Amino acid sequence: MCLNLFKVAESIRRRPTPTLSFYFLPFNKPTCTPRLARRSVNTAKPYPAYSSTMPVELHGSCHCGAVKFSVESSTPVPYQLCLCSICRKVGGAGGSINLGGISKSLKVEGKENISVYKAVLNRGTPQEKIASSERNFCKKCSAMLWLYDKSWPELIHPFASAIDSPELESPKKMVCIQLQSKPAWVRLPEGEKDVYDVYGDLSLEEWHKKNKAFVA
Ligand SMILES: [Zn+2]
Ligand SMILES: [Zn+2]
Repeated sequence: MCLNLFKVAESIRRRPTPTLSFYFLPFNKPTCTPRLARRSVNTAKPYPAYSSTMPVELHGSCHCGAVKFSVESSTPVPYQLCLCSICRKVGGAGGSINLGGISKSLKVEGKENISVYKAVLNRGTPQEKIASSERNFCKKCSAMLWLYDKSWPELIHPFASAIDSPELESPKKMVCIQLQSKPAWVRLPEGEKDVYDVYGDLSLEEWHKKNKAFVA
C-alpha cells in the first residue's frame, strides 16, 4: 500500500484527547519540561498560498476534459513521491504524488467517463490479492484522477498531476518513499529530500502540521 494511508489513519486514531488531569494542573506549575518546550517550537516557514484557515478547494481535470472535479484539502503540498511499481506504472514515469482531500467534499462532472483500477498485489505469487485502494481515472484519456480506499472513507487522494488550480506550492523538501521498488534508471527529484526504502515517519497530516502547511 502506498501513500502512507496506514500512517494517515494511525495519526487520526492517535489524535490526543485532553484528559481531566490536564485541566487540574496548578497555574504556577510548569506544564512542560525544557526538552518538551524545545520540541514544541516549530521554526518551519509557512506556505503562503495555504495560509488561510479554511481547507483549500482544489480543482482538477483529466487531460481530455471529460472529467472535472473539485475537492477540499487540508494537506495540499505535493511533497511525497511514491516510487512503488503501481505509482510508477500509472504515473507514467518515476512515480506518483498524491495529495490529501476530504472525501465528502468531492464534486465531479463527467462521472460516466471514470473507470476504476484496483491494483493486483504480488501478481503471480501465492500472496496475490486485489488491493483495497481504488485508482479512479478517465477512461477516454487514461489520466489518473484520485485514489480512494474504503478502509479510510473520510479521505480521498487526488493525484497532484490532475490539479489545475490553485497552483500547488513547490515543496521545500521532498519525501521519496518505496525506494526498494525503484529501478536504476529512475532519478530522484533534485534538491533537498528525505528518502525511505518503504514509508516515511510522518503521515500526510503530520508532515503538513510540522511544515506549517496544514489548513483546516
Ligand atoms: Zn505507490
Ligand atoms: Zn479524459
